[in-house]
Amino acid sequence: MVTRTTNNTMTLDDAHDIFGHLNHQELKNMLKNISDIELCDNSKEVQSCTTCIKGKLTGANIPKESTSKKTEIGELIHSDVWGPAQIKSYQNYSYL
Ligand SMILES: [Zn+2]
Repeated sequence: MVTRTTNNTMTLDDAHDIFGHLNHQELKNMLKNISDIELCDNSKEVQSCTTCIKGKLTGANIPKESTSKKTEIGELIHSDVWGPAQIKSYQNYSYL
């Protein structure tokens, strides 16, 4: 929940929520250039954001390098499999 202390002053955590969960350092840099918004004195304390933590948990750990080398074209295929779609088309087709 966002609560402004005055019309032009807000906490760093409130600004974090308002500006799309931008990291705090970039947020401070950005707000230096906006004369209408000031951060509160107590905004130096950084609270952990549940939304950001949950967002980072959903990311898959992708290795930087492959552990197996393929020598032939088509030997290894990567694909993104999705479906079937829960909603059918107007012609009652199902998409897989
Ligand atoms: Zn956040």
